[in-house]
Amino acid sequence: MGFFGKIIAKITGSTHASTSDWNELEAALLAADFGPELSREVVAAAHSLRADDATQAITAALTAFLSNKSREMSKAVSGPTVLLIVGVNGTGKTTSAAKLAASFIAQDASVLLAAADTFRAAAVDQLRTWGERLDVDVVHGADNADPASVAFDAAQQGLARNIDYLIIDTAGRLHTKSDLMSELGKVKRVVEKVLPIQEVLLVIDATTGQNGLIQAKIFAESVDVTGVIVTKLDGTARGGIALAIERSLNIPIKWVGTGEGAGDFAPFDPTSYIQGLL
Ligand code: GDP
Repeated sequence: MGFFGKIIAKITGSTHASTSDWNELEAALLAADFGPELSREVVAAAHSLRADDATQAITAALTAFLSNKSREMSKAVSGPTVLLIVGVNGTGKTTSAAKLAASFIAQDASVLLAAADTFRAAAVDQLRTWGERLDVDVVHGADNADPASVAFDAAQQGLARNIDYLIIDTAGRLHTKSDLMSELGKVKRVVEKVLPIQEVLLVIDATTGQNGLIQAKIFAESVDVTGVIVTKLDGTARGGIALAIERSLNIPIKWVGTGEGAGDFAPFDPTSYIQGLL
């Protein structure tokens, strides 16, 4: 039974939810990474449930915590659509860039990948391996090349080849917020000399819990994030982080990753997400 199942069963049945039931619900929400603030808000919303429409009411209350911004991916009116993938190393940026490429290829679109995470040779190799597997060209530079120069090169190639999607994987070193801002800012600026960027997608690893929320805040302050990709939802029962991110930042989750394969990826569906919580 989901978090709310027991509470809903109590208030729709003959017994009433006791203080310990509410405490149990709050503890379950905390364990599922809703975070203290949102857990309290959700319990407060659940308190006002009436027996006749408890499930409907809690669904409505949870939906109200989600972002009301569009989850559609923006597309360039003409020319390449450019996506910048940002996030802390290890969250699943490179894998998600490849998964996005696979999903566009499945729609018969042409894709170019750019390995602008030039600080880690392994990250470049990983993207190149994905490129071979998906039959997609990967623009890369020499080891430790300036990420902005690789991104610039990729934008020029994307434009010259009139590619449908250019997906740029970036470095996720999180030394300080000012380092991050200057690095991502530079990548963004040089790309925008060639092509506008339609989406800046922030990758968050669901298994990192509330830490993911802290990372999300830092990135959102550093660069104009237009959407979130939540990865590794297959590896956690703590999917509350998705609601916590949307509640606290009002940035829509656009995609979810549920495994290491190219196909383990889908647009975020709020209705099934909330049903999952219930
Ligand atoms: P990056 O450093 O942010 O580029 O992260 P990677 O793309 O290299 O991913 C780090 C690890 O997480 C790799 O082993 C991936 O296969 C794995 N990974 C990425 N996304 C998912 C996901 O949705 N589910 C699972 N289970 N593993 C994932």
